[in-house]
Amino acid sequence: MLQDQDRIFTNIYGLEDTSLKGAKSRGDWQKTKSLLAKGRDGIVNEIKESGLRGRGGAGFGTGMKWSFMPKEVGERPHYLVINADEGEPGTCKDREILRNEPHKLIESALLASFAMGAHTAYCYVRGEFLREAQALQRAVDEAYAAGLIGPDACKSGYKFDFYVHMGAGAYICGEESALIESLEGKKGQPRMKPPFPANVGLYGCPTTVNNVESIAVASTILRRGASWFAGLGKPNNTGTKLFNISGHVNQPCTVEEEMGVPLKELIEKHAGGVIGGWDKLQAIIPGGASVPMLPKSICETVTMDFDSLGEVKSGLGTAAVMVMDQSTDLVRAICRLSRFYKHESCGQCTPCREGTGWMWRMMERIADGSANIDEIDLLEEVTRQVEGHTICALGDAAAWPIQGLLKHFRPEIEKRLSDKTEAA
Ligand code: SF4
Repeated sequence: MLQDQDRIFTNIYGLEDTSLKGAKSRGDWQKTKSLLAKGRDGIVNEIKESGLRGRGGAGFGTGMKWSFMPKEVGERPHYLVINADEGEPGTCKDREILRNEPHKLIESALLASFAMGAHTAYCYVRGEFLREAQALQRAVDEAYAAGLIGPDACKSGYKFDFYVHMGAGAYICGEESALIESLEGKKGQPRMKPPFPANVGLYGCPTTVNNVESIAVASTILRRGASWFAGLGKPNNTGTKLFNISGHVNQPCTVEEEMGVPLKELIEKHAGGVIGGWDKLQAIIPGGASVPMLPKSICETVTMDFDSLGEVKSGLGTAAVMVMDQSTDLVRAICRLSRFYKHESCGQCTPCREGTGWMWRMMERIADGSANIDEIDLLEEVTRQVEGHTICALGDAAAWPIQGLLKHFRPEIEKRLSDKTEAA
C-alpha cells in the first residue's frame, strides 16, 4: 500500500487550498529554476530513468517520447500539447488534477516544454469540463502574475506560455492527432501516421502530446529523483497511479496507489469492497471502457499494471476500474458501450464506420435474445475484421470489450439465446 510520504497528488480531493499559495505550501514551484538547470538532456534522461509510462492508456515511455523531438529548434517552433480530453467512459482522474492540483500540471508543463525546446504548451480540455477549465485558467493566471511562467519563467530567462483550450465534447478528440486537428480549428479526425507528431504535429511543427497525469507527475519526479519513482511499483511498471473505481462498490473513489497493486486490494481497501461482498462480484473492466473485461476468477489475483493486465489479455488503459456484480446484465452493459463507440466513430475509415454499427446491432440482438446462436461467431469475426484495420485505435476500442465478453462469458450468452429460442 502506498505510503503517504510517497503520494504525489497530496490535494487530489481538493480538501486544501488549491491556489498558488496552497500549492506552494505543498512543495509545488519550489526551486523550479534549479530543476530547469538540469538542462534539456538532464530532464529527459531523468524521466527516462524513472520508468514513467504514459498515463493516458497506451503506456509508452514518457521520457522516450520526449526524446523523439528534434534536438535543435529550427525554423518551426516546438509545442507541448496536454491531452485533457478524458472522454473514456469510467475515467475521471485528470479532471481531479485540473480542479485540485492545477499548479502541479503547469509547473510540470514548464519543465517538460523546456526539455523539448517548446516555448508554448496547450492544454486541450474536454468541452464538458467547464469548471475544470476555469480552475486551470485561474491557476495559469496566478502563475503568470507571479512570474512563474511568461517571458522569464521562474527568472530562468526561458519564455514559456500556457494556453487552456476547450474542446467541444467529441470522444475522438482524445486521440492525439484528432486533438491536434481540433486544436487547429478543424474537424477532429485522426491523421494517418507517419508522420508522427514529433515531426509534423500542431501547425505542422514538432509536437509532443501527453496525458495530463503523465505531465503532472514530472515535477515531483525531477524534485525527488528518478530512483525514488522507479523504486515504487514493479519493474517496467514503476511509480504511482491514479485509479478511478466505480460501479458496484460501497465507496466509489479516485485514489493514488502504487502501480502493481492487487486489483482485489484496491477495491477492498479503497472502495469499501464490492456491494454485498466479494463473492457477489461478476466481472471487472479494469482500465476504462475500451479494455476487455475480466471474470471474478482472474480479478482474485491480477495486479494493476500494464504488463500483468496485458498477460491476462486486458489492459491497464486509463486505470478506470468498473466493477459489476451479479445483478449486472453483462451483455446489455457491453452493448451500451458498443453504441457509444458507434456514435463516436469519426466515420473516416470503413471498418470502423461500418463495423461499429454492425457490432452494436448484433449486440442489441444478442442482448434481447433475438439473435441466432451462429451470430456469436459472426460477431467475433467482425471484431477481428475491425481490430487493427483502422486509422486510429477507436476501432480496437470498439472491438475489445466484445472480445472480452465472448472470451469469458460465451456459455452464458449461448444459454441466453437457446433459452429464448426454446421459449418462442
Ligand atoms: Fe475515425 Fe474510427 Fe477510423 Fe478512428 S478508426 S479514424 S474513429 S473511423
